[in-house]
Amino acid sequence: MNIHEYQAKDILKRYGVRVQEGIVAETPEEAVAAAKRLTEETGTGWHVIKAQIHAGGRGKGGGVKLAKNLEQVKDIASQIIGMQLVTHQTGPEGKKVNKVLVAQDVYYPGDSEPKEYYVSILLDRAKGQNVIMASTEGGMDIEEVAEHTPEKIFKEWIDPAVGLRPFQANKIAFAFGLQGEAFKEFTKFLTSLYNAYLDTDASMFEINPVLKTSDNKILAVDGKVDLDDNALFRHKDLADLRDLAEEDPLEVEASKSNLNYVKLDGNVGCMVNGAGLAMATMDIIKLSGGEPANFLDVGGGANAQTVEAGFRLILQDPNVKAILINIFGGIVRCDRVANGVVEAYKNIGTINVPIIVRLQGTNAEEGARIIDESGLKVYSAVALKEAAQKVKDVLAELA
Ligand code: GDP
Ligand code: MN
Repeated sequence: MNIHEYQAKDILKRYGVRVQEGIVAETPEEAVAAAKRLTEETGTGWHVIKAQIHAGGRGKGGGVKLAKNLEQVKDIASQIIGMQLVTHQTGPEGKKVNKVLVAQDVYYPGDSEPKEYYVSILLDRAKGQNVIMASTEGGMDIEEVAEHTPEKIFKEWIDPAVGLRPFQANKIAFAFGLQGEAFKEFTKFLTSLYNAYLDTDASMFEINPVLKTSDNKILAVDGKVDLDDNALFRHKDLADLRDLAEEDPLEVEASKSNLNYVKLDGNVGCMVNGAGLAMATMDIIKLSGGEPANFLDVGGGANAQTVEAGFRLILQDPNVKAILINIFGGIVRCDRVANGVVEAYKNIGTINVPIIVRLQGTNAEEGARIIDESGLKVYSAVALKEAAQKVKDVLAELA
């Protein structure tokens, strides 16, 4: 589960990680009030207004702007709140901004230039250990650093039995070329950050940039936090941070019916039991000239209710021109699935797109017979290749 920057910073602060202070606002008036309060609390005169969406690259997309007075705070907040922010992580349609973080400007000029670093913590599945990734090239896309100057990314793997050891934090601080006060600040920063990561059962923390201010303070200017869904049951307070407005409405609805659905851009809806088979089905759709409109795994027991919920989800997507149902009857018998499809079809009443049903496994032939004799606009197929061919035919007819 992803959370917003302002929520991530709240968590970090609780663990003693210094952050760029800010107050969240949902209207331009709230933004002005927030800016006034920040000036009282932190002495800052300038503020950065930061769009709160679950995507990175906000700065480049125009979602992070500096305001030098209250009038500018109001103007910029009015521009950003409600805008459709497009970044390299949102897709071309962008994401609607509902909230902004009004933050203290921490790049104030001093004797020396502020310096940006990159720090992230995530699980290295191959090694079975958490890894800290750090780079002197903060503020940039880390993917770009990894591609062009991989030697500028340092990695420290953490032994789960002993945790992060002081020499490891020191090693990164040396690699950053830090000295004196900044060195001490950074090792404390990293230790607190790691504690926060472990304690919240996070699967990723990414702080980009980590800033060294001109007076040698180290602080988190950004915060991307991904929490492990499977551990949320033991963090009620963190589970409450979920923002449904950031998720695709169809995916939210799917999760209510315990369906595993991911919306895609194509025109062929698919309904499959098993994630692996769903991936293979998407490949087949592509090979036959279509584009999958979604990934949908209805799980082991494909009955009339789950099939109906799946149909309703797929049909809410206006791009869907055909539906391919691909079910392997292992635990569930194909004739029961076929009856489920017919029943769901009749319950919904108006399905205007052709449906190809491929049933394989126990009682496959009986299942195909039920489909063929239903009198509905549903076509059966036994082999996957045959199903793919039917999808192709259906798409050709529509073209
Ligand atoms: P992202 O683009 O989604 O990663 O959002 P960030 O929170 O990382 O902000 C983007 C960029 O805005 C940073 O890399 C900084 O260069 C800039 N920025 C953030 N905070 C401040 C600030 O307090 N003052 C100034 N002048 N720039 C800031
Ligand atoms: Mn960032």
